[in-house]
Amino acid sequence: MKAAVFRGPGDSWPERPMAIEEVPEPAPAPGEVLVKVSACGLCRTDLEYLKGEGPTPKPPPIILGHEPSGTVAETGDGVSGLKVGQRVLVTTPIPCLTCDFCRNGRENLCPNMVIVGANRDGAFAEYVVAPATGVYPLPDSLPLEESCLITDAVGTSYHALYNRAGVKPGDTVAIFGASGGLGLICTQLAAAAGATVIGIGRKKWKLAKARELGASAVISTEEVDRVERVVREKTGGGVDIAIDVTGVPRMIESACRATRPGGKVVVVGFSFQKFQLNVNRLMWLELNVMGAKNYNASDMPRILELVQQGAVNLSQVVSHHFKLEEINEAYQMLDRGEVLRGIVIP
Ligand SMILES: [Zn+2]
Ligand SMILES: [Zn+2]
Repeated sequence: MKAAVFRGPGDSWPERPMAIEEVPEPAPAPGEVLVKVSACGLCRTDLEYLKGEGPTPKPPPIILGHEPSGTVAETGDGVSGLKVGQRVLVTTPIPCLTCDFCRNGRENLCPNMVIVGANRDGAFAEYVVAPATGVYPLPDSLPLEESCLITDAVGTSYHALYNRAGVKPGDTVAIFGASGGLGLICTQLAAAAGATVIGIGRKKWKLAKARELGASAVISTEEVDRVERVVREKTGGGVDIAIDVTGVPRMIESACRATRPGGKVVVVGFSFQKFQLNVNRLMWLELNVMGAKNYNASDMPRILELVQQGAVNLSQVVSHHFKLEEINEAYQMLDRGEVLRGIVIP
């Protein structure tokens, strides 16, 4: 089968970090499923690996791609409830379901977590093998290709807003990084939850999209120096909830200053950098600063229901469809901020 193989960062970024190669088609072991990939989302997490800013959990060579949708091609021994040809998603986090975290409803923190395209080969290929516990039937009413975004971006946004921030109708929510794919999904989910959303981002054409998809106000960091001051003015003292999807230190710091006393700052963005937080602000204002990682497998029925109800318009977020052969160019475009959310169709 054809696959995009990453052999390590070296000096390969940005020209050709991944090579399109012919590799053996993987076979499902007992308890695993072979999925014919229909689409796989391009994610900023991969950029960190491609640029060499952090190591892939499985050392290279590795096939990246952790946001796949597809159809069941073959089931391994002992797999029940899935049929060949069935439309499925492979969830990004695949927890063990037996450890203490899993048994206590914190499956996203499972130390035995498997992520295809990180701990093992992923879906920038024609086929991917995944543990059956991470292979989830996709309702017929949802599109096969665009729904690959549910596996990571939608699930992660849901977890950040509902499980971590506890969003309620009437809340004010600032999304730092509203001009990217994850931010646009957070914007839609927060608006659907009855919150008033302020979108913060750089590029104006993308912020226009955030406005279209539910943000009642947008602020461009290209036009405003101290975003937090504008947010505090607009909200009479700060938002109830600030979500950072960028992982960029100065954005997280700005999110902390844009949040009202007693409010919540949820960091969803990923990077290997550090940020600074004034202890006085943390203590005196009782800021709740927390992380949000992936989502719980048990949230999947509710997440799919929300998408089916129209809380998230996936096709509005997918701005680019790429062929597997275009994957290096696709990541360069993502890095330059030219893509809302891109998907690869192998
Ligand atoms: Zn991702
Ligand atoms: Zn576990």
